[in-house]
Amino acid sequence: MTKCQECNCKIPIDDKTIKIGDISVCSACGAEYEIISINPIQLELIEEEK
Ligand SMILES: [Zn+2]
Repeated sequence: MTKCQECNCKIPIDDKTIKIGDISVCSACGAEYEIISINPIQLELIEEEK
């Protein structure tokens, strides 16, 4: 299971519908991740500029 790097909670990902470039958002802390690989699933944290 994929975990959020920020809060370590699970990130729900539907591996049947995701595709590279999709954005997945952690529902607990709001961190955004881009799908960079599907098999295996890899996420890259999108850091917001402030
Ligand atoms: Zn999180």
